[in-house]
Amino acid sequence: MHDLPKHQGQRRHLVKLIAQKGIQDKPVLQAMAAVPRHFFMDRGLENWAYEDKAYPIAAEQTISQPYTVAFQTSLLRIKPNDKILEIGTGSGYQTAVLLQLGAQVYTVERQNELFKKTQRLFKKLHLNPKKVIFGDGYKGFVEAAPYNGIIVTAAAPKVPEALLEQLAIGGRLVIPVGTEKQQMFCYTRTAPHQFDKENCGAFRFVPMLENKN
Ligand code: SAH
Repeated sequence: MHDLPKHQGQRRHLVKLIAQKGIQDKPVLQAMAAVPRHFFMDRGLENWAYEDKAYPIAAEQTISQPYTVAFQTSLLRIKPNDKILEIGTGSGYQTAVLLQLGAQVYTVERQNELFKKTQRLFKKLHLNPKKVIFGDGYKGFVEAAPYNGIIVTAAAPKVPEALLEQLAIGGRLVIPVGTEKQQMFCYTRTAPHQFDKENCGAFRFVPMLENKN
């Protein structure tokens, strides 16, 4: 895989567009300028990798729109070395942006095909999340809790209790909630039994699915 001057130029253009759409977080914009999104998409879609759009990946899932990745990531307010849990590894693109910001990343995926494919891709790209977990994001990943931030990249019908419980004090959960359309909610754990809740606008995501088995 190559990151050509052509890609780099398209990426600078995309980052400019995202900034114009209202993202002002410099480290997040720099991270998006650094991560080659086309590495995380099918070869046939390479020419569209720097459009501000979601595209199909495997298992009927989508790679999130770059603006959405930037928006959710900036809501996390990541500091280097923060421990972050991502629900919905998908293509691995969001994971790579979190790693670029210096976070320690745990990421959970429930589709086996994507889990395997993206884990292979991380190895190939020398990206080192702390752990890629095949499992159910509704449960979080208690083994490495508490987290400074939790980001959910699929739409949840309601906020999973386990995710709130796995936040550190001062930690933030960024999650799109709703069935057909979603509102982006941001929860901050202010005390062991106290959470601030903020509504950060309307979005559309693929659904966060419940495990049938
Ligand atoms: N962050 C990804 C977004 C992928 S779309 C990217 O940038 O490419 C959302 C992902 O969430 C899909 O891969 C889907 O399989 C996964 N997902 C849905 N429900 C889940 C659950 N309960 N647990 C873990 N992952 C889930």
